[in-house]
Amino acid sequence: MNALAGTSRNFRLASRLLGLDSKLEKSLLIPFREIKVECTIPKDDGTLVSYVGFRIQHDNARGPMKGGIRYHPEVDPDEVNALAQLMTWKTAVADIPYGGAKGGIGCSPRDLSKSELERLTRVFTQKIHDLIGIHTDVPAPDMGTNAQTMAWILDEYSKFHGHSPAVVTGKPIDLGGSLGREAATGRGVVYATEALLAEYWKAVKGLTFIIQGFGNVGSWVARLIHERGGKVIAVSDVTGAVKNQNGIDIPQLLKHKEATGSLTGFSGGDSLDPSALLVHECDVLVPCALGGVLNRENAAHVKAKFIIEAANHPSDPEADEILSKKGVIILPDIYANAGGVTVSYFEWVQNIQGFMWDEDKVNKELKRYMTQAFHNIKTMCQTHHCNLRMGAFTLGVNRVARATLLRGWEA
Ligand code: GLU
Repeated sequence: MNALAGTSRNFRLASRLLGLDSKLEKSLLIPFREIKVECTIPKDDGTLVSYVGFRIQHDNARGPMKGGIRYHPEVDPDEVNALAQLMTWKTAVADIPYGGAKGGIGCSPRDLSKSELERLTRVFTQKIHDLIGIHTDVPAPDMGTNAQTMAWILDEYSKFHGHSPAVVTGKPIDLGGSLGREAATGRGVVYATEALLAEYWKAVKGLTFIIQGFGNVGSWVARLIHERGGKVIAVSDVTGAVKNQNGIDIPQLLKHKEATGSLTGFSGGDSLDPSALLVHECDVLVPCALGGVLNRENAAHVKAKFIIEAANHPSDPEADEILSKKGVIILPDIYANAGGVTVSYFEWVQNIQGFMWDEDKVNKELKRYMTQAFHNIKTMCQTHHCNLRMGAFTLGVNRVARATLLRGWEA
């Protein structure tokens, strides 16, 4: 099942549990606006190359639309649409005053030079600058983009609209970025994991973890789990996978990756087939990479007791069903990885107020939001007799539905 079908299915299940009117259901599902633009740039060797960029603005009932911009070869409109929709429910679950959007360019950022990436980002910004804005749609980094990408968007946008730091989040600190934003998604994942484990009288310390993905999110999750005494027994990224039953020395692995750009050849563990990683024995599995990695082919073989969805839609609905039947507890993406957008909200607030918070305040507020959201999800689970995914979906969808109804439709 593709990402959009899977996400829309979860939305409809939640809508039924909430007893939403079918017309409201339809209006909540259809994106507010879908933008598709051609981006042609000269490569460094002078040849021209064209890419297609998207920005899908899903819903703005609760506030400006918010979500990342992804640079990845598999970016397609259905996937961006699903991710935009997930952002709407995610910002509502986190209870931050935003709607949802997502963007992307179908390209392979690893194969582009820095100056090619800059040109591509500037062309894309020129095409969408009239449709984004501090109070309309606020982009942020996602897969294949980072603080530098946001700096280029900010600079290009400011040529048309004047200096507007709050038009993007996840910026470099020197341009108004927030302390703690870089680590925020990973930190939020760990706060969410702690909130879940506490329900089972467990703590991170002493449990075994497997982490798929060692980019911004996965590497922070690994570092923070390691700091808390959790045993990270296997890690993978696009370059390979490494395992060590006694626990990987994560600071050493980070140094190795920094030095070599790869996980392979690390002396503190053995190499592992990346496809075996997801079905390796562990207490907690944390997918931090692409969507759809847990599916009907591998779900029955998963041995983890808990799955923390740090990636967006890592489990497709078939996997969801198989895993739930096996009794695996899944902490859903729209809650588990909401730390990134939550600290994006703090960044936006700091930009608008022109007042910078210290990192301690950012992390404390993040913990407060993540813990509160978990308790709100649990309440929905009790009310609707459902699992955590439906608890999160009913929480998010209900908040957006209420805001939509309060606004009304009168012309
Ligand atoms: N790209 C991140 C996400 O999927 C962050 C979005 C944001 O900060 O706006 O949640």
